[in-house]
Amino acid sequence: KRIITTENLEEDIRIENNLRPQMLCDYIGQEKAKETLKIYIEAAKSRSESLDHVLFYGPPGLGKTTLAGIIANEMGVNMKITSGPAIEKPGEIAAILNNLQEGDVLFVDEIHRLNRQVEEVLYPAMEDYAIDIMIGKGASARSIRLDLPHFTLVGATTRAGMLTAPLRDRFGVVNRLEFYTEQELTTIIMRSAKVLEVEIEKAGALELAKRSRGTPRLANRLLKRVRDFAQVKYDGIITKEVAAYALDLLDVDRLGLDHVDRNILLTMIQKFQGGPVGLDTLAASIGEDAGTIEDVYEPYLLKNGFIQRTPRGRVVTERSYHHLGISVENLEK
Ligand code: ATP
Repeated sequence: KRIITTENLEEDIRIENNLRPQMLCDYIGQEKAKETLKIYIEAAKSRSESLDHVLFYGPPGLGKTTLAGIIANEMGVNMKITSGPAIEKPGEIAAILNNLQEGDVLFVDEIHRLNRQVEEVLYPAMEDYAIDIMIGKGASARSIRLDLPHFTLVGATTRAGMLTAPLRDRFGVVNRLEFYTEQELTTIIMRSAKVLEVEIEKAGALELAKRSRGTPRLANRLLKRVRDFAQVKYDGIITKEVAAYALDLLDVDRLGLDHVDRNILLTMIQKFQGGPVGLDTLAASIGEDAGTIEDVYEPYLLKNGFIQRTPRGRVVTERSYHHLGISVENLEK
């Protein structure tokens, strides 16, 4: 596994729960999403109603689960957590819904992976707080309607485009989560260091932030790894030098790229003259799955201007040449 993967790794689980901000005021960044949520939460509370259904979309590790928990805390209700692939049958989602208490938050991660029959149970549940259950078989079968408590569905997805229109339309609040800025990540890292009782200098936090690919999950993971270095090799304090040294050894370069990213860029430059190159062709030449490149590797490279998408394929930008120390002029000849 790449250390810079934004997926949730085994090693994250132990620290992540300790590091989650509990209330909106502790949640750093995502100002737009926070502002919208604040208004909806206040409005729902003042009317003593449950909050409208909320959809979060965006790359992994940006804080969707954290925000779902914050919504529950701010509303003073409980949260149940499940995920799209975990629910296989309509009966399973019906049971989950039926066990909710008034006002509860039901968090469904990877909601785009719900199957069709399960999704159909959710439509009336979200719209009318009711489910239709079939009783009996054949000619004597009939459907009865079961009322549910008023609940808030919080859905999270990395692929908003894969959500069906009827499901998407049933969310009253839709928020896109953005990558974090270096300043925001520095603040998150300083906060996490405090919780973990790690000594860190601001310049050390900034060095970590620069290499954390805009993602708090990664920032926290790198902090933990660098802490180990600082404890074993130095006197426990994370300075800029310690952070840079440790991250270089961990193969996370000064802009957060690792050998896989650099290999993608180098392949595009050396084999395809910097592009344009089609996704499938690129995938074949680096021996990766096209979907993985598109979902896992590309978003950060695109977002940070290392590559661009054009109608004819992907092209490498000047920034990549600079970063890899390759002269653009040489290649154009
Ligand atoms: P996934 O969808 O992959 O599960 P996610 O978007 O739900 O990811 P979270 O699990 O909420 O991400 O966040 C990952 C980690 O980052 C958590 O440890 C959380 O504490 C931290 N984190 C996320 N957002 C913030 C934030 N705004 N401020 C401080 N810490 C944050």
